[in-house]
Amino acid sequence: MSAILAIDQGTTSTRAIIFDGDGQRVADAQQEFPQYFPNDGWVEHDPAEIWSSTLEVCRQALVNANLQASDLAAIGITNQRETSILWDRASGEPVHKAIVWQDRRTAPLCEKLRREGHEALVVERTGLLLDPYFSATKIAWMLDNVEGLRLRAERGELAFGTVDSWLLWCLTDGRVHATDATNASRTALFNIHEQRWDDDLLALFQVPASLLPEVHDSAADFGSTAPSLLGSAVPVCGIAGDQQAALFGQACFERGMAKSTYGTGCFLVLNTGSQAMRSENRLLTTVAYRLDGKVTYAMEGSIFVAGAAIQWLRDGLGLISHAAESEELARKVGSNNSVYLVPAFTGLGAPYWDPHARGAITGLTRDSGIAEIVTAGLQSVCYQTKDLVRAIQNDGAPLKTLRVDGGMVGNDWLIQWLADMLNVEVDRPEITETTALGAAYLAGLQVGVFTDLDQIASKWQRNRRFSPTMSPGSREKAYQGWLDAIDRVTRTR
Ligand code: ADP
Repeated sequence: MSAILAIDQGTTSTRAIIFDGDGQRVADAQQEFPQYFPNDGWVEHDPAEIWSSTLEVCRQALVNANLQASDLAAIGITNQRETSILWDRASGEPVHKAIVWQDRRTAPLCEKLRREGHEALVVERTGLLLDPYFSATKIAWMLDNVEGLRLRAERGELAFGTVDSWLLWCLTDGRVHATDATNASRTALFNIHEQRWDDDLLALFQVPASLLPEVHDSAADFGSTAPSLLGSAVPVCGIAGDQQAALFGQACFERGMAKSTYGTGCFLVLNTGSQAMRSENRLLTTVAYRLDGKVTYAMEGSIFVAGAAIQWLRDGLGLISHAAESEELARKVGSNNSVYLVPAFTGLGAPYWDPHARGAITGLTRDSGIAEIVTAGLQSVCYQTKDLVRAIQNDGAPLKTLRVDGGMVGNDWLIQWLADMLNVEVDRPEITETTALGAAYLAGLQVGVFTDLDQIASKWQRNRRFSPTMSPGSREKAYQGWLDAIDRVTRTR
């Protein structure tokens, strides 16, 4: 019995993938669920819909694999991070919709706390920044804006959870209220150095301690599913936030190994070993994973728009009809492109963190056409990664290996150009479902389907290595043009 069910609860869809004891995919199922935008900059999910989609894909994946729940050795959970849910402990009913990580409603509270000089404390204890992205101000918003909630919270009647914690509660029929250290590290309430909820931060954000889940290792005994749900009880043995799970699924277990995921946005996560490195360049410090009580830390940079720029070229401008067409066009243009596209549609993420910047196309000449603009869209993904890698290097962090995954990495031109721009070798794995795989590995470690990290690392297989071929002069010239374009969009505020 070595099959493992990985639940991958993402921002727009929920998936379940069953892996065998070799880490090979056996079957899967996927479901999209509704997004709610009740106000400008607000994004919500319905916790009941998150749960029902999860249960349905788990059941469907078992059917597709022709397996019973009793054939499963364990379940692993990976999830959209930071998204915050409050529910009633007695009834199990959510008391508000989930406030999603993208939601900006708490920007004024973050600005107020920053003006009052509290950001240094948040950075020091959590490795994060004062930004609406993280859970703390989302919880405070619910307590202060839904009548009676704060009182109920103070009476100990409510529970808080990130999505993993909510799913675990539902899967165990309300018997377990817990999370793992990676998800806890994204709340802005968790002291990543001491691995405990931080009283000073709870006071700062006015979050009662009675709301909080227990924090376990990422591979741990999280309790078993209620037998009626899947047909028999299955132990939940691994939990990690999506980007950390991807790092794990890419087997980046050594200091200096990084993975970069290219989907709608891009998330680069670098393993920094037992050292929680503090960035001077506005990268985040976070928990990569915690095993047997031992914490491995990571540095993280996020780019809001990566594949979304290609979606915009397709759906917004109609310049291409399929994302994959971008590759042909870029091959025609080559790397000598004077056009730059800065996709700052919702501001700029790391290392700029400029919420006011907006997008631009610069460097147009009379002979610029569709191909040049589309190529600039692909190149923007590489330039933004270069910004992150430069920030990492300026922080003195080691970067030895870069492994890529996500929907964009099928584009060979893009990954070659990425290697050229970064001047590092870029490795693409055979299995690019790294997020779910990471959750399966964590659960499998706990139940002994996988013996140790070395064994997991030996399963990682390279599909292709992309080595840099660009001359230093060309690289520098191209990148200077990008910095010039960035300067323009951040100057026009
Ligand atoms: P997410 O998980 O964030 O929804 P995916 O990992 O599924 O995203 O990746 C989808 C993104 O990748 C889309 O934004 C799409 O535009 C982009 N994409 C897919 N294929 C290609 C390609 N061949 N070239 C460039 N971009 C691509």
